[in-house]
Amino acid sequence: MRMGPLLGIAVVLPLLALGSSTRAEQKSPRHAPHGKTSAGEAGTVAGSSGQVEAPGGPAVTLDVDARDIGRKLLHTRLGLPASGGALTLYYPKWIPGEHGPTGPITDLALVKITAGGKTIPWKRDDADMYAFHLDVPEGTSWVDVSLDFMLPPSTVAGFSSAASSTSEMATLNWNQLLLYPAGRPVREIPFKASLELPAGWKLGTALPAAGTRGERTVFQTVSLETLVDSPVIAGAHFREVPIGPKLEARHFIEMAAESDAALEIPTATQAAYDKLVAEAWALFGAHHYRSYRFLLGLSDGIAHFGLEHHECSDDRIPERGILDEDERRSRATLLSHEFVHSWNGKYRRPADIATPDYQEPMRTSLLWVYEGLTEYLGQVLAARSGLWTADDYRASMAMIAQWAGDHVGRTWRPLEDTATAAQLLYQARKDWEDYRRSTDFYDESSLIWLDADTLIRKKTNGAKSLEDFLHAFHGGESGVPKVVPYTLADVLETLNRVMPYDWAGFFRDRVTSVAPRPPLEGLQRSGWRLVYSDTPSALEKSTDARFEHVDLSASLGIVVAKDATIEDVVPGSPAYRAGVGPNMKILAINGRRWKEDDSMKDILRAAVASTKKATKPLELILENGEYLKTCPVDYHGGERYPKLERIQGMEDLLSVIIKSRS
Ligand SMILES: [Zn+2]
Repeated sequence: MRMGPLLGIAVVLPLLALGSSTRAEQKSPRHAPHGKTSAGEAGTVAGSSGQVEAPGGPAVTLDVDARDIGRKLLHTRLGLPASGGALTLYYPKWIPGEHGPTGPITDLALVKITAGGKTIPWKRDDADMYAFHLDVPEGTSWVDVSLDFMLPPSTVAGFSSAASSTSEMATLNWNQLLLYPAGRPVREIPFKASLELPAGWKLGTALPAAGTRGERTVFQTVSLETLVDSPVIAGAHFREVPIGPKLEARHFIEMAAESDAALEIPTATQAAYDKLVAEAWALFGAHHYRSYRFLLGLSDGIAHFGLEHHECSDDRIPERGILDEDERRSRATLLSHEFVHSWNGKYRRPADIATPDYQEPMRTSLLWVYEGLTEYLGQVLAARSGLWTADDYRASMAMIAQWAGDHVGRTWRPLEDTATAAQLLYQARKDWEDYRRSTDFYDESSLIWLDADTLIRKKTNGAKSLEDFLHAFHGGESGVPKVVPYTLADVLETLNRVMPYDWAGFFRDRVTSVAPRPPLEGLQRSGWRLVYSDTPSALEKSTDARFEHVDLSASLGIVVAKDATIEDVVPGSPAYRAGVGPNMKILAINGRRWKEDDSMKDILRAAVASTKKATKPLELILENGEYLKTCPVDYHGGERYPKLERIQGMEDLLSVIIKSRS
């Protein structure tokens, strides 16, 4: 999964490239472009068993009516094979890839259960809010459930339970629209789903279609695990774009947007998307899907993030997320990150996260591998494929290096604890993030995996690299989706096969122990060091534009939002020493009143630049609740932004690492 980065670093998604032909989409509205025309290539995903075939036995039927989606209402009817006696039905709670109990059960309504036309009363479990208990009458073979799901408005943030629809487009997640019987692993429960969309909408999904029934798309029977792993993107403005070279598995971007204009992909971006596919295949040496689809939603009315699946990803960006250069650059790792997850997170998955159903809690202490290695590789692939320039990649590493040092929370909290507590930290506020730490297991792991990669390269004189680990751990035989769980011992054992080393100690020092200093050894070994410049990099400018803030964390030690609110303060920084705190609001800088327009950013930067010559402190007049206070910030370093500088005499391994392989 990927959301916005911490203090403005890295980023999420983007898309790329365009191209040419959109195939197949123009037939009747509302069938899967690849579904009817080429159902065989789309996929049922598989279960942890590795099976791709649907499990046997009578299937649960799931019929979804999305014609009322403009009012944020979805209507569902379920038919469940059942027999007389006690039955517990679950609403999915732990959603794969979200690393927390995020199933949006408060948005469920009108839950009615009947058998043979007679109502069956239900009672919610008074400890597990996601469990419904009922007594099924003897002689019953079938239970009918109807329910409505109320989609959230555009202001609701989060992941798949956040804003997902507008009157023009939507991404639908099946887990939000169903109940399932307790007692069996979800890979063993067959589901047969169908979907009716508003007139004129088209859809894209990795779920194979079986045909149509009236205006309804009927999908093939698959396991519940595969169903939940196969969301649907749909909309009135829709386009399917093939990407990548002609390989034994095909790749597509399935785009739904607020406008037809948003579906146009610039030529250079299309070329980078094409290359992304080839670079990922070179990186891992094998693949574990029959086809792969980026379900790319482009809208300002939906939440923006990425969520991984085995044969697709749910990727959501603003309407102009491809066309606006700041948006594109600042989200350039979104698709590469989610694509990497097909190997790292879906195919290879920590055993404690590969749970049998959606109720058993996931234990997430290995997210520094699941998400952290994905973050490192997503950034490397962005550079190798041309989504980022080499300068962008180095700028990203510089921003991460600075940010990791600012996080003084590292003096009390090991990186591993940010992974274990991910379900809390995804929801945490941003103020005093440096004390609390955030989901640091993403970006800090980029530094740690760079450390491991450069260590292998140096110690083997370039004969081996982290790619040898990837081929061994994530490659193997190409084929259909399956899940191969792992433990930390498996990671260490594979690394030791690539290069014998004290890998247990390596990760103990950097991950499981309190590590007061950020892990910058890999950066240094790659021939680069963190320094500061008086102008921000293109990536930092794009990131500031995207977040509508000015990041002065390396100079004054504050990040200032467009409305003059101090988003956060770096502990120990000049602003911190002057008494500035998060959520105070700037009224004036050096006596000059703050105006809410774009010129203020320049005035703020100019005031910081002038500190070099100024003899007096920079003065901030701040609003703190109902009170005003004046803070003299004793800083004289001018503008200061992170960048990387070559270490003379050392090999430039960073450039070797981001060199194209395809
Ligand atoms: Zn992720």
